[in-house]
Parts: sequence; structure tokens; C-alpha cells
Amino acid sequence: MTIRTTCAYCGVGCGILATPTGARSVRIEGDPDHPANRGRLCSKGTHLGETVGLDGRLLHPMIGQKRASWDKALDLVARRFRDTIARHGPGSVAFYVSGQLLTEDYYVANKLMKGFIGSANIDTNSRLCMSSAVAGHSRAFGEDVVPASYDDIDAADLIVLVGSNTAWCHPIVYQRIRARCEAGAKLVVIDPRRTETAAEADLHLALRPGSDVALMNGLLAWCRDAGVLDAAFLADHVSAPEDFWARVAEGGDLWSVAQSCDVTVADLRRFYDLFAATPRTVTLFSQGINQSLTGTDQVNAIVNVHLATGRIGKPGAQPFSITGQPNAMGGREVGGLASTLAAHMDFSDENRARVQRFWAAPTMAAKPGLKAVDLFRELGNGRIKALWVMATNPAVSMPDAGAVRDALANCPFVVVSDVMAETDTGGFAHVRLPAAAWGEKDGTVTNSDRTISRQRAIFVPPGEARPDWWIVKEVARRMGWKTAFAYDRPADIWREHVRLSTYQNDGARLFSLAGRGGGGNAEYDAMAPFRWGGQPFADGRFPTPDGRARLVSVFQKPLPAPLRDWPLTLNTGRYRDHWHSMTRTGLAPKLARHRAEPLVEVHPDDAARLGLADGGLARVRTPQGDSLYRVCTSDAQRSGELFVPIHWTDHTSSGGRTGLLPRPLADPISGQPGFKSTPA
Ligand code: SF4
Repeated sequence: MTIRTTCAYCGVGCGILATPTGARSVRIEGDPDHPANRGRLCSKGTHLGETVGLDGRLLHPMIGQKRASWDKALDLVARRFRDTIARHGPGSVAFYVSGQLLTEDYYVANKLMKGFIGSANIDTNSRLCMSSAVAGHSRAFGEDVVPASYDDIDAADLIVLVGSNTAWCHPIVYQRIRARCEAGAKLVVIDPRRTETAAEADLHLALRPGSDVALMNGLLAWCRDAGVLDAAFLADHVSAPEDFWARVAEGGDLWSVAQSCDVTVADLRRFYDLFAATPRTVTLFSQGINQSLTGTDQVNAIVNVHLATGRIGKPGAQPFSITGQPNAMGGREVGGLASTLAAHMDFSDENRARVQRFWAAPTMAAKPGLKAVDLFRELGNGRIKALWVMATNPAVSMPDAGAVRDALANCPFVVVSDVMAETDTGGFAHVRLPAAAWGEKDGTVTNSDRTISRQRAIFVPPGEARPDWWIVKEVARRMGWKTAFAYDRPADIWREHVRLSTYQNDGARLFSLAGRGGGGNAEYDAMAPFRWGGQPFADGRFPTPDGRARLVSVFQKPLPAPLRDWPLTLNTGRYRDHWHSMTRTGLAPKLARHRAEPLVEVHPDDAARLGLADGGLARVRTPQGDSLYRVCTSDAQRSGELFVPIHWTDHTSSGGRTGLLPRPLADPISGQPGFKSTPA
């Protein structure tokens, strides 16, 4: 029997037809009826079938190094969390979760922490991925709404990619972009590196890292001077601070913007002219924008241009944040971030009271909790005394991962629920809980364009593995909240999520799942992919109190000059055929062929100056740590900058441990760490 499900990897959210061919084998094909991919799959999705074996799986609960029964492990987790809260208060415990969780898993974890433990110390690795987009959307629109859909790409005449190697990181979206360009649309790529995506663009602006606000403010000023602002849209639907336009003018003329961004005046002018002349423009942005110490401002600089020119809410005219993980968006919808509540609500008193009523919750979190970087800092300071990590590997992926490891080692109680037995983070756990993997559990995911799809089980979970929602609700019940967590199956959780999205929602909030699978189990089982929210902002109404969007004044911060001891700037990112810390892609031999080892990409001039030979070894050092890489000289790099991949770990390599290198600093608004420009 063929099962309709979705891919395990990225935020494109491709539909898959999975046909079991044995006890642990499956044939994978693209689902021609899924709107995200229409039957296509990239290399990672295509080879998913190679990753469903049981090598390295965690199959039983473990207390220390000893196998334990589920009852014993769950009782211990519940007791240690309860005791820690009783002695030190709800702020002394935390969950660190993941965009790999399904929406139902996320919902239950969020409910337990925010409504019953009474703290908002639940954050997610999505903080590392797109929280600047969340903050930017909330500032501009009043709610974290992605207005665009993939269909907008098909209708665009100009596609602008900012900080996104889409050809590698969102390959199926890129195929769609390419098809549109073959039909005549123009492609502009804004990225310090000449990536595979940039190499195919009509125009590549290899700007100085971190100068995106200058670039976008310059574009806004250019559009105003060219007379292409949408005066009627601005008057009817957009508010701005009084001095907004005067401040935009402070960005300077074309020449000074080109200087700030380190691009030629001719290239800059070409981009600005193209944008000004093309009403149907989609600007897609990703980690190059979000993973910055000024990520939120960069998001708003992009959104400002689209609002001011009326390039929003129309087919082919949108700003479009593309997400990294398979369910970063589902997490946003249920409030999986420490800074959001549930169903796109913030922590206003009114929203807290509304959610508390709905959940009949005893102790609502009073305020936002610790965001990821702060959470691990407080773990290191001893303020967090019990931590539960679900489906993620912060000992590898957090910035300054060496300090995160020290913090984990000193925490009195660490729980890790994971699919794999041996992970860098699992090595610090007092209790490890075996989670069901992709292909073994049921639930929903939301992709970058708000399409919600069912992920469906193909196999029975092996050993004693259980779905994450089940593990969390069993702990909640043992902590004393039996009725509130009386879920028997994911459909029960989905129905509650649907009801919460509509509960006392008078239409002020765009996020609503009214009529979406809130009925019986059969309706949930048969759920077809759907996109919520229609075409947001098509009517010019935004989910702010006055219905108007906001232009946000953002300014280019001075970019630091290279330091004497740290003269290079380190950038990090993904490879085409690997995913996160390779727990899954590392199982597929064909995927390893693309990049067999971690490379440090360096400009030939820098390599010559530093005495590095192509193919030799180099140790990359930052104030936080160091690691070894194979040298790849390439003039696709700007001089003075390095690029390294994020995927390798203690378990896969003696080098390439990139998490050790970045600073534990974050955007002050979104809390998203800046991975793109570490002095090195
Ligand atoms: Fe999977 Fe993303 Fe590739 Fe689609 S583009 S097949 S979701 S990894």
C-alpha cells in the first residue's frame, strides 16, 4: 500500500509517496498531487529510503548507561522536574525542542511548559533558523504571517534571493524559480558568496556581509525618487513613524550605498532599476538574512520596500521568508518559541488569559521565557537546573558549542529524547528516551508557504520507541495533570489545536484553522494538504489593531573593521546533500559522495597569504574555539572571508566542528544567533 506523507528534511515540505517494500525498506517517489513539489524530489528526499534502517537507533529508555522500563524512566523525569520546580520555581526548568518535531508534539510540549509548569522556558532550534523573520513579520504585520506562497514564484517577473543558496538548501523551490526564469523572469542573487545559485543569476551582488540594511534602504530611496511608491496603498493601508522618510534619506546616495555594500555603482543601479521597473517581484530570504546580529532589522528593511511599493498581497509580488526545517512553521503556529504563546498570540494579558481559559491551565507563564542563547547561558550559570532536549543536538549546533557542552555537563538533570542512541548531546543525558523517527509517527507539518500536510507512519516504531507527543503527555500526567493531557492519538491534539486557533478569535488574528480536520479521526487521517489564510493582505487589511501595516525605521549599523588578531570573517552554512548533524543523511552512502569531508573555503589571495595549499589542512580559530578543515581555495569567496559547513560532529569526524566557532551573541530583538560573521 502506498502512503502519502512528506519529506523529513527541509521547509519546502515536499509530498512523498512511500511504498513499503519490506520490514524496514521503502520505495520513495515524489507526490505529483502535492502543491509544494508536484512530484519532484531533490537528492535528499530521493534517498530517504536509504535512511530508514535501525543502525544506531535508541530502542529503549536509558537511565545513565542502564536500560530502564518506560515507567521507571518517565517516573524519574516527572519526579525530578516536579522536585526542581518545588525547590527553585518554574523558571529553573527548561525544554529545548526542535523544528523536526511534528505540530502535535510541539503543541503538547508548549502546553505543558507554558500552561502547567507556568514558565515559558521552552525554546526551539528554530530560534537558530528563522526567529528574525518571526520578529520582523510581527513588527510589520502585527502577526507572524508569511504572506507569500510558492504560486507567487510562478507569477513573478523578478525574483530576488537574499542570503539564500536556494539551489542547495531549498532545491525544489529553486527548480520552480529556474522554470520561471526560463519563461522570462529575471533572477537577482544578493549573497557575499558566489554560490551555485548566484552563478546562475542574471545579476549577483556579492555584498559585504551585514550590509543588507544599507542595500534595502538604498532601494527604498531609489524607488521613492523613481516615483514607484504606491501612494494609494501607503495612504490606505500602511503607517510609518513621522520621520521615516527623512531617516531613509540619511542612507545616502547611490555611490555611498555602493561603498557601504562594497559593490559597484553599476551593479547596484542595475538591481534598483530592475526592482523599480518590475511590479511583480518576489523577494525570498533565508538564513543569510536571519542569522545575523541585526537579522530583524534586515527582515524589516526588505518588508519595508515591499510595503512601500505595494508589492505585497498580490500574485507574484511578495516578501517571502523561506524556512529551513520541515516544521519550523508548525512550531510557530503552536507557540513553540519562548517569545510566543500559542496560535500566533503574544504574551499580552488578554492573550494569556484567553489561553489559560482554553486550557483550564493552573499556572500560565507570566512572560516570555529564555531564548536559546540565553537559555544555555543560564544553564551554564546554574539557573536552569533541569533541561529536556527533544530531537535536536545543541552540543553541536549552538554557537560557542564548547560552552554549551560545559553547561550540559554541569546541569543537575538532563533528559534527551532522540531517535539516535549516540549523539553529542545525548552523552550528557541522565535519562535518554527513545523517540519514534520519520516514517514511524503520525502528525502534521507546516512548510514555508503555510501549507499544512500530514506526515504518516510507514513502519511500526522499533523496540520501545514512542512518538514525542506520547512521551511528553506521559510525563505531564505523572506530574499530576491527567485530564489536560488525556490524548490517545495525534488527532486528539490536532482537534484541540484547531479549537484553540478559533477560540475567541474574532478575526483579528489571521491564524485560524476553522473547519480543518477538527471533526473525527477519519477526517484527520484523510486530511489533504491545505494552505491556511488564503492570500493574506490581498484586501489591504493587516492583523494590527488598526488594520494597517507598519513601516519600521531601520538603519545600517557600522560594520566592524577586521581585528588585528582575528583578521578574517567566518561564515557558516549547509551543503546540498547533508542535513543538520547528519544523523539521517549520514546513513545514505550516495549523499556522502557530494561532499565527503568538511572544507574551509578561502579566497586564493588569502590562501597564498596564509600559506595554505588547496587540498591541505587548515585549523580555523576564533576566540571561542578551533577546528580542522580541508582547504578549498575558491574565488567564489570574497577575500577576507571564510566559509565552513555545519554538519560534522564528534561522532562523524575529528574536524569540522563548526559549532565551536561562532560567538554566543544574538540579535537583540529576535534572539537569533549571528552565525554569518564571526571574527576568525
Ligand atoms: Fe525534501 Fe526539501 Fe528536498 Fe523537498 S526540497 S525533497 S522537502 S529536502
